[in-house]
Amino acid sequence: MENCIFCQIVSGTIPSSKVYEDDKVMAFLDITQTTNGHTLVIPKKHVRNVLEMDQETAQDLFVQLPKIARAVQKATGAAGMNIINNNEEVAGQTVFHAHIHLVPRFDSNDGISINYTTHEPDFQALGTLSEKIAKEVE
Ligand code: 5GP
Ligand code: ZN
Repeated sequence: MENCIFCQIVSGTIPSSKVYEDDKVMAFLDITQTTNGHTLVIPKKHVRNVLEMDQETAQDLFVQLPKIARAVQKATGAAGMNIINNNEEVAGQTVFHAHIHLVPRFDSNDGISINYTTHEPDFQALGTLSEKIAKEVE
């Protein structure tokens, strides 16, 4: 896609610090380096995000994640890693070409905090909602 920054990285129009490439997938360092080694893994095919991703692209992309994540961990000496994916503006997506963030973690005081609001479990509501979602899975 012409004015997509990640498509331009794939075509080489915009430079990137590449760490992995095959026919379908590319991984390169995020320019902001949230932590040392922060890497983005993308499908070469322009897909807006995971919510719009076809199974074949998902297979191509996700099958490569563990080995790239392990390479980032090994090279940076990270103790762990957050693997994050933002879908649509409300969820923090700013570049609308699907990408997975690999964010190496070095200690719990490295400035990253991922918090989920917790609620007391309502098992009846969980049952109703899980049935509703299950019906939507194609
Ligand atoms: P999002 O907020 O969409 O999940 O993440 C987009 C990411 O792309 C951000 O972390 C941002 O730093 C990164 N990014 C934006 N433009 C460029 C670029 O031109 N090159 C690289 N390597 N990363 C970029
Ligand atoms: Zn694109």
